[in-house]
Amino acid sequence: MKVLKFGGTSVGSAERMKAVASLINNDEPKIVVLSAMSGTTNALVQIAETLYQNKNEEANALIDALHDKYKQVVEELYTSAEKKKQANELLTEHFDHVRAFTQDLFTIHEERAVLAQGELLSTALFQFFLEEQQINSVLLPALNFMKIDEDEEPDTAYIAKHLKEELEKFPNTKLFITQGYICRNAFGEIDNLKRGGSDYSASLIGAAADVEEIQIWTDIDGMHNNDPRIVKDTYPIAELSFDEAAELAYFGAKILHPSSVTPAKQKNIPVKLLNTMQPEAKGTTISAESTGGTIKAVAAKDGITAIKIKSGRMLLAYGFLRSVFEVFERYKTPIDMITTSEVAVSLTIDNARHLEEIVAELKEFGQVEVDQEQTIICVVGDFIEERSGSGLKIFQSLKDISVRMISYGGSKNNISLLINTKDKVEALTKLNEGIFDRNTNNA
Ligand code: ASP
Ligand code: MG
Repeated sequence: MKVLKFGGTSVGSAERMKAVASLINNDEPKIVVLSAMSGTTNALVQIAETLYQNKNEEANALIDALHDKYKQVVEELYTSAEKKKQANELLTEHFDHVRAFTQDLFTIHEERAVLAQGELLSTALFQFFLEEQQINSVLLPALNFMKIDEDEEPDTAYIAKHLKEELEKFPNTKLFITQGYICRNAFGEIDNLKRGGSDYSASLIGAAADVEEIQIWTDIDGMHNNDPRIVKDTYPIAELSFDEAAELAYFGAKILHPSSVTPAKQKNIPVKLLNTMQPEAKGTTISAESTGGTIKAVAAKDGITAIKIKSGRMLLAYGFLRSVFEVFERYKTPIDMITTSEVAVSLTIDNARHLEEIVAELKEFGQVEVDQEQTIICVVGDFIEERSGSGLKIFQSLKDISVRMISYGGSKNNISLLINTKDKVEALTKLNEGIFDRNTNNA
């Protein structure tokens, strides 16, 4: 069994859905996980925001516009009048459900129900299409097996048990369709795995069903060595280790949800990143092993705040760092990077919601400096046996850019540098020219 996840653009129109159907139409047993059609979740977020503000007329207009878009999809997707009718009835049902929220108090519960509509619609429409094409498949409701606990972490034991039960109901079926992103929470309510969470669904389902491979299909040919939106001349990386992929996903490679590496890694299931527009391209394989050059890729994460605390009290003292960390813990603010000297500590956060309170408390320890609009440049690779002078290549490439912090040795897969966001394009471009060995890495 394999899991194949198709993202929003891959199912973003009637034409793209047809392409996905022909891609999966073979004898291999598989679970197909779909995102919402591209643009839908954003539209639903906007509808929810409007409803929160009690702008019901505006909300109705947005709902009608989205409904119209889907009517068009139905028109293009099916050939028989009967399927068109069936699909239009389904649309009416779902959009009336959303319209009903304009009549009532709108809370986070209603919001989650609204956000779930995108995946419910894409999978139902796709299943109808398979039926019309007489392709044998079963639609599995993710809400019957996908679950998070009180800490909003996936309940993997529950997922494995209930997914198995769902699959066993259909012993002769080889093709299953299900929703990404949506789940139930500890209270049994509809919830979700946060934006971009369909990748996470795919990986959790793959781990729960112990599949041989998880495929993430998007509209780009794998994970690139650098951000293709910013830098020219990037290339897909043929192979990455789980740890390298997790670092890249966390530090900004938009192609993969950062949490989605963990379930696959735990079960040692390879993850392939493939391109629906170019199905024969090799893409990126993420597995326990990784070959290729020492430096694999760079990624950048914006919106970083750097905080420096300078204190004479730190000199030869113990317990100082703990007191500093406790401040961040109290405000539930994760720290990304940290460097220390004997009299100062610098660290970065990407969630600046409690910045003011944090800074006020830190001032009790000494002098505090804050720099916003910073970017973490993360160089990912296998630096365990640092013989190839990677550090030198990185700093040589960045010789004209001022680097605020450097973190090296925290993990064997990552060298992080903090720069001013205004220098990001230049930094990524210079690194692209200076640090990669294209012959060993390229797919
Ligand atoms: N549809 C959801 C989103 O747009 C989940 C996903 O596509 O992964 O965030
Ligand atoms: Mg995505």
